Amino acid sequence: MKLIFLGTGGYHPNERRHTAGLFLPELGILLDAGTGTFRLTPRLLSPHLHVFLTHAHLDHVCGLTYLLAPMLQQQITSCTVHAEAHVLKALRVRLFSEEIFPVFPAFEFAPLESPVPIGDARISFRRLVHPGGSVAFRIDTPGGSMAYVTDTTASSSYLDFLRGVDLLVHE
Ligand SMILES: [Zn+2]
Repeated sequence: MKLIFLGTGGYHPNERRHTAGLFLPELGILLDAGTGTFRLTPRLLSPHLHVFLTHAHLDHVCGLTYLLAPMLQQQITSCTVHAEAHVLKALRVRLFSEEIFPVFPAFEFAPLESPVPIGDARISFRRLVHPGGSVAFRIDTPGGSMAYVTDTTASSSYLDFLRGVDLLVHE
């Protein structure tokens, strides 16, 4: 399982780091769409993309707007955005309001249901403590597993969710 860290910072990008984005090219899965999303297109192995959002804070979702150009240019031919229903609603009403970003990319919005099958992979989620709500993701494949936990403080409350995982990416 290959992982590409497109961004590892929070709040705003700086000279050394962009905001949250972790790409798994073999699966076509992007975890969070921060400012590092502009780095995604040359790393795509397939034109089919699945974006899983932990929450709607701007540093995790602003990169969705960067996907418009590669979608118009057919570098990305399908893009499904997976997130909790209230996150998808916030994106549609706020980030993609006509006043802020007038062209809605041809995303398919998929409310999170656990687990989500993507090819041989299974993506499950667990709610975390964070203002506005957030989720952790766990990806299990026949070749290995990883979990992505961000924007929360370490807690034993989700240990069972992480148990046995090969790789943990934790803020
Ligand atoms: Zn946050």
